[in-house]
Amino acid sequence: MTCKDCGKNMSYLEHRESMDSLGIELCKRHTKLIKKIILDNNTPLEAIQLYYALKEAGAHPMLEWWDGTKSIDIAISRVKLNIEIDVEQQTITHQQAINDLEDAMRSFKNGFTTLRIPAIAVQHYLKDTVSNILGIIDGLKANLKVI
Ligand SMILES: [Zn+2]
Repeated sequence: MTCKDCGKNMSYLEHRESMDSLGIELCKRHTKLIKKIILDNNTPLEAIQLYYALKEAGAHPMLEWWDGTKSIDIAISRVKLNIEIDVEQQTITHQQAINDLEDAMRSFKNGFTTLRIPAIAVQHYLKDTVSNILGIIDGLKANLKVI
C-alpha cells in the first residue's frame, strides 16, 4: 500500500483512515494536507478524487488553483483548462446559474476554458470522466497549436 501522492509506503491503519475519510489511498501527512485544503476551500470530495485520478493519468492537474479572483477546484494550466465540480445541481439558484455563466465568460476571455462536471459523474463514472477530460485536453492542445 503506497500513498497516491508521494508513493510512500503506509501502514494498514493509515490506509484505512484515508480510505474511510477521503476514499483515496494517502499517507498520514497527505491525508492531513488534503483535509486542510478541503477545510480552507470547501473543496468537494469528488474534486479530490478526480484530481488524483487525473494525476495518475499523467494530466498534471493542480488542486485549488488561485486564478486571481477565485480558487478553481482543478486546473490543467498548460492547456488553460479549469475544472469545477458541481455538487448540488438540483438546488442551484438562478443567481448561482448566472454567476457561473459570467465566471465562464470571464475566464474564456482570458483564454481559459471552464468545464463544469457534476459530482455524480465522478462518483459513478470516474474512469469515463477522466478519459473524457483527457480527450478535451488533447483537443485544447491541438487548438493551441493552430493559434
Ligand atoms: Zn503521501
